[in-house]
This record gives sequence, C-alpha cells and structure tokens, in this order.
Amino acid sequence: LRIGIDAGGTLTKIAIMNDHLAPAEALKFLKFPSSEIERTVAWLAAEANGAVLAFTGGKAGMLRALAEREAVATASGVDVLAVPEFEATCTGARWLLQRQGRSMERFLLTNVGTGTSIHYVTQDGHERVGGTGVGGGTIIGLSALLGWRDGSYEDLVTAALDGDRSRVDLKVSHIYAGVTPPIPGDLTASNFGNVRRQSEPVGIEDALASVVGLVGETVTTVSVHAARERGTADIIYIGSTFLGNKLLADIVYRYTRLRGGEPYVLPDGEYSGAVGALLAL
Ligand code: ATP
Ligand code: MG
Repeated sequence: LRIGIDAGGTLTKIAIMNDHLAPAEALKFLKFPSSEIERTVAWLAAEANGAVLAFTGGKAGMLRALAEREAVATASGVDVLAVPEFEATCTGARWLLQRQGRSMERFLLTNVGTGTSIHYVTQDGHERVGGTGVGGGTIIGLSALLGWRDGSYEDLVTAALDGDRSRVDLKVSHIYAGVTPPIPGDLTASNFGNVRRQSEPVGIEDALASVVGLVGETVTTVSVHAARERGTADIIYIGSTFLGNKLLADIVYRYTRLRGGEPYVLPDGEYSGAVGALLAL
C-alpha cells in the first residue's frame, strides 16, 4: 500500500494506491479538514498499517510529527518520505492528465487552493511562474465578510449558483453602452463596480456569485498572462475550490477561452499533490 498525504492550508487530501488491485480500482481518494488534524492521524493509525507513506503540503511537517508521536509511522515500520509541495503537485497533475488520456508535452498548471499557485510544467521539469492570494480562501472569507453565515462549502457554492452577477459587476459593454468596445464587451470592466449604480440592495446570492466571479477571473487572468509568457495555450486548473463549483468552472472555461487560452479543469485535480507524493515512493 502506498499512501500520499497532501496536508494543505484548508484540506488534507489522501491518495491510496493498492498495487495488488487492477489499475481501475487501485487508486482511492479521501480528504479531511486540515483543522481537524487528529482525524487524519486517527485514520492513519487505523488504516496505514504496512503502508509506505509520503507527506507533502504546507502542513505536512506538523501532521507528520503528530503521526510519529502517535507511533503511526513506526507502527507501520516503513520509510516515511517528505516530498516538496510543488514537485508533488506537478508530478501528480501530469499523472492524472495521462490517466484522462490527455497527456501534454507542456502546460500551465493553476492550483486554486486556499491561495493560488501557478506552475509551468514540461516533460522533464516544472517551475513556479507565479501566483495570487486570490483563491479558495477568498471565496470563503469574502463571503463571510459580505454576511454569508451558513455552514458548508457546498451550501455556499449552491447559493452562488442562484445569484445574478449583472447587478454587481460592471462589464465593458456597460461602459461602452451603445457603441462597439475595443475589447470584448463580455469582459468584466470592474468586479463589484456596478453595486453603487443599483437603487435596490443587492441580494446575498448575487454577491456570492460575484465573489466566485472575482476569484475565477483573477486566477484566469494571471494564468493567461503566465501562459502567454511561456508560449503555451494549455492551462490546467486544479484545487478543491473547483469541488462542486460549477459556477467557478464555467467562469474559468469561458474567461480563459475569451482570452485565447485552452482551459481544462482536471477531474480529481485536487488530489494532484497526494498522487505526486505517493508516486515518489
Ligand atoms: P494550499 O494548497 O493553498 O495550502 P489546500 O491544499 O488546503 O491549500 P485545496 O484543498 O486545494 O487547498 O482548496 C481549498 C479550498 O477548497 C477552500 O479554500 C475552499 O474554497 C474549497 N473547499 C472545497 N471543499 C471544501 C470543504 N469541504 N471545506 C473547506 N473548503 C472547501
Ligand atoms: Mg494545496
């Protein structure tokens, strides 16, 4: 059993490879909130016997120390490997792409996690080319500031899907009303720039939809520029922020294409780091 653990700022993702099973059934995924670290340790204590473990992510050191204190690692009597986060993420994404039959010689990889990290991945290497603090944590934090108090991420994403951005965001076509704009009218001229023009208050769902819009358009814009700089059009998007978040995926697809890029939101992409970690074993 090979287990890769990516302990991120928000979620701890686990990939479990049972090399004795057929390829279609060999790989399983699991996740825990990183804030509930003891749940991950308890799972490891119960399930990781005889396994080899590889840790990655910003909270890997803390998790590993706790797991070792609980004698998880020593109980399984194995080597425990630490894999650098960007290395694990890029390797795992390349592997998951291949599994989808989408192998690419080179591509841009945008990981929309708590924050957003952008990498240029080639067949023999990878390089971090940028990032932005606008990411999944922004969706949660800004929504809370705007008055959203409900529980789960799924609830938030569902509410955003019911929202209407047109009363919140200002499009280029709003400014160039009645005349042909020099850039596509569908581009956002100003995120939240339409709020003060409304006579009626903006509903929370509308605000949430625009928060997702802000994050989607920001990560897309930064990615398209980085891709252009590297001379590639292919942009692969990963990260738990896309989980159940059709609105974000739609925005990212539409906006990347509008700007000349070729987008793909990778299925199971949020497990790239965990997969990359276990592949190092
Ligand atoms: P980083 O890589 O920046 O350290 P991370 O690896 O924890 O962070 P991801 O797991 O890729 O990041 O994504 C975290 C984001 O996913 C959250 O900010 C939130 O927007 C979204 N998300 C999806 N599902 C959940 C969930 N069940 N609980 C909390 N956030 C969730
Ligand atoms: Mg991460």
